[in-house]
Amino acid sequence: GSSKSKSDKKYKIATETAFPPFDFTDSSGKFGGIDIEMLDAIAKDQGFEYELQKIGFDAALLAVQTGQADGVIAGMSITDERKKKFDFSTSYYEAEVTLAVAAGSDIKSLEDLNGKKVAVKTATNGADYAKSIADQYGFTVVEFSDSPTMYQDVITGNTAACFEDYPVMAYNVKNGAKMEIPEGMTAAGCPYGFAVAKDKNEELMTKFNKGLENIKASGKFQEIIDKYTK
Ligand code: GLN
Repeated sequence: GSSKSKSDKKYKIATETAFPPFDFTDSSGKFGGIDIEMLDAIAKDQGFEYELQKIGFDAALLAVQTGQADGVIAGMSITDERKKKFDFSTSYYEAEVTLAVAAGSDIKSLEDLNGKKVAVKTATNGADYAKSIADQYGFTVVEFSDSPTMYQDVITGNTAACFEDYPVMAYNVKNGAKMEIPEGMTAAGCPYGFAVAKDKNEELMTKFNKGLENIKASGKFQEIIDKYTK
């Protein structure tokens, strides 16, 4: 009957490959992070099954738009532009975008980027921000498909800096990335939300929002945040 096929549904959720502390493989080889544990707690609370597609940010967004995935959880910012193509959950994390440079770099401000190459990750709001100020500050934007490759390009000095979400950059620096975050170089970002294709998956979105509310009320949500940010 219909109730059986409903409970048999296994949602395909697309996510990042390396975006700590939200989606990443930890030192013991386990894939987890705030997004992943939150999704799992919500799925348990709401009694739905899912499988993860670890495909990277740009690919995750495309997978949802083409119907190959039901939802995306990937530190994805809720923007007005994206609302034309996606429905978003209640937001679950605030994040700004920051400039980041190689450790010891003499680049401290946007003015220092004049004539330089700057790295961004494809389809992110960091990329949009960089493109919006590139002409003004005289730098060239170079795109990468994932964060580790982008950082490596900055560390080797090929690109002079990158734009990344602050909590992610700070987590990487704290955990040994040979980079630094110049003072006062954050720009407004947008809060993170879980997304589905616009008007196509109301059922999953309703479950996600209910589950998020429940794990906030139970303290489970805060427990997950604390585990990865303390
Ligand atoms: N929060 C940023 C965005 O949504 C970056 C997300 C990511 O790189 N996974 O554009």
